[in-house]
Amino acid sequence: MSTLRFKALETVQHRKTINVTAPSAKVSDYFNMNVFNDDAMKTYLSKDAYLAVHNAIKKGSKIDRSIADQVASGMKSWALNKGASHYTHWFQPLTGATAEKHDAFFEPTEDGRSVEKFSGNALVQQEPDASSFPSGGLRNTFEARGYTAWDPSSPAFIMEGANGKTLCIPTIFVSYTGEALDYKAPLLKALHAVENAVINVCSTYFDKKVTKAFISLGIEQEYFLVDEALFNARPDLMLTGRTLLGLSPEKGQQLEDHYFGSIPPRVYDFMIEFEIESYKLGIPLKTRHNEVAPSQFECAPMFEEVNLAIDHNQLLMDLMEKIAQKHGFKVLLHEKPFAGVNGSGKHNNWSLITNTGVNLLSPGKTPETNLQFLTFFINAIKAVHDHADLMRASIASAGNDHRLGANEAPPAIMSIFIGTQLFNVLNDFSNNKKSKSSNAKSSIDINKIPEILLDNTDRNRTSPFAFTGNKFEFRAVGSAANSASAMIVLNSIMADQLNKFKVKVDALIKKGNKKEEAIISVLKEYVKDSKNILFEGNGYGDEWVKEAKKRGLSNIKTTPEALNAYISKNSKDLFEKNGIFTSRELDARYEIMQENYVKKIEIEAKLLAQLAISHVIPAALSYQQKLSENVASLKAIGINKKKYEAQFKFIEQISTHVNLISTSVEKMIHENEQAHHAQNTHKTALAFCHKVKPLFDVIRHHSDALEFIIEDDLWKLPKYRELLFVK
Ligand code: ADP
Ligand code: MG
Repeated sequence: MSTLRFKALETVQHRKTINVTAPSAKVSDYFNMNVFNDDAMKTYLSKDAYLAVHNAIKKGSKIDRSIADQVASGMKSWALNKGASHYTHWFQPLTGATAEKHDAFFEPTEDGRSVEKFSGNALVQQEPDASSFPSGGLRNTFEARGYTAWDPSSPAFIMEGANGKTLCIPTIFVSYTGEALDYKAPLLKALHAVENAVINVCSTYFDKKVTKAFISLGIEQEYFLVDEALFNARPDLMLTGRTLLGLSPEKGQQLEDHYFGSIPPRVYDFMIEFEIESYKLGIPLKTRHNEVAPSQFECAPMFEEVNLAIDHNQLLMDLMEKIAQKHGFKVLLHEKPFAGVNGSGKHNNWSLITNTGVNLLSPGKTPETNLQFLTFFINAIKAVHDHADLMRASIASAGNDHRLGANEAPPAIMSIFIGTQLFNVLNDFSNNKKSKSSNAKSSIDINKIPEILLDNTDRNRTSPFAFTGNKFEFRAVGSAANSASAMIVLNSIMADQLNKFKVKVDALIKKGNKKEEAIISVLKEYVKDSKNILFEGNGYGDEWVKEAKKRGLSNIKTTPEALNAYISKNSKDLFEKNGIFTSRELDARYEIMQENYVKKIEIEAKLLAQLAISHVIPAALSYQQKLSENVASLKAIGINKKKYEAQFKFIEQISTHVNLISTSVEKMIHENEQAHHAQNTHKTALAFCHKVKPLFDVIRHHSDALEFIIEDDLWKLPKYRELLFVK
């Protein structure tokens, strides 16, 4: 057999394990070795330069140009010592990936020699010829200028290749007129806003010593691994990251024998190597395990400050892909690479921690500390309740649509799971107000706040947003996403909510209420307002869809519709008021995201058409031909017609499926063309969503039926069981 599929299967059988060596047996010996971290800065920077960077990180203060020159010079020495020859600004444009454009340190001099140079200007700002990054109309291509600007709060690092090393400098990316063209710029603004709000509430009501807040994020990353040879024989995986066709295997995840099972040796080697490379870059990976679906895995780092956690996650995804290739694997980060088995997410564990070392989302032992906990806990619930649609929009993507709201996926309803204990606490809390409302002022007693003992087993894996003991876990984020999208929204709405809370409480205090009374009464009101978003049951069940509808919660199933929340009046007010996005920036982003959706679906449509016409139908016809020849020869030697009824049946079935595929493909191509005639990008996106995409299912249905019938040897695309089980 010479088809790619069978060659690939051969290749997989003969894969050799790749030796992996760590710089040292102890991770602590080499953790951060390729990062220009505090230790490296102390060694390579003058005292002034060190202090300037330190203050920029800790206090957000500006670094002037002469100091920037010193920092650049120190950074260059460090990088050259490490063997780096190039440097790049490393940024996160709205394509979802990271971007880099390398420049050599080396510069020829007039006397025919050369030197290694790196100036403060090159460190602080660059003007990449960035005309091809999405800007949503914020920049004309003839006016290609976009600027990258250094983000000192995320340390520079060295990316190692097999034959070269590059100094990478994390930066934001903005247009000539200052509008954000990336994820990092608005993220930093959102974090700044929420930090101020947290400090304000904490220091006014609970603890004057709170002068800084640390917004923490731990990102669990799910992914699939597929052998590279098999992957290369699947054009759909190559071009779209997911299988557009493929009959479900007899065995999927129903035995649940993969979850937390022993890690296959080749996968284990891959994990060890990407962990080593991650440690060198300061990514604090702690956990690795098999996930529920066959060939699905997860890794998770220790939580870090949000901006750093996101840079690390972006870097991690890049590393995983590079290291996987060395081990003959391809990493699938797509949210739903295979129908019929689980998809992948990127759980965002989020909490708020003060400079006094208190996790504000961790219940305390005393009523006072619990009032502080309840303040942040309830405000978070209220924020998500009031901006559920924005939260939904923040995780919307063509890939994640298969995980949310589609068949065999959880619904796209935003709800919050808080566990039985806290659910009861909030219930009592708000009921208490009702029963004593006639005498509200004096009846509120801080000592009535119960001690909160959390039950660790109280978990709900079906909730899109779950409280898990000392943090909220935003579980609906897609595995391929840049977490910044979700974190910009979550931190912005939290900042806004805390500010509103402060205004309300202050007003009550001004009217003569005691501080605790004021806080409690506002919190009670919030619990009442947001109760309908709390849900403790099975979020994947049909009953929840009905119940949620009764409660008036939205269930926005598709990306083009979900994105509308970004440009509603409410959202624009919220983002503008808190200094995160201007209205123009939101319009541009909206346009980019709709456009991105269109491109993704269009690529899938074109590829599916191509696979159907050039692979599925020819394979079907070959087999039909074979059957016909068989029938003809049986007839020629006088066999009774009854004896070859089975062949007839197959011949007919093949014709039926082939015809239906062919007409559906024609229809799909037509709808694809029509979609581009819509009035605007949003309408085009809607057309792709509701007119083009549904035909995918029809084509797939008939293709999968053919895969079931057709002789195995004639089927050229690796089958699900091979992709999922051959290692
Ligand atoms: P799970 O049971 O969901 O896998 P883990 O205990 O393994 O939960 O934690 C998952 C992630 O949550 C890890 O990345 C961890 O560092 C992170 N995490 C733990 N505490 C916090 C916190 N206070 N803030 C943010 N993330 C946290
Ligand atoms: Mg988890």
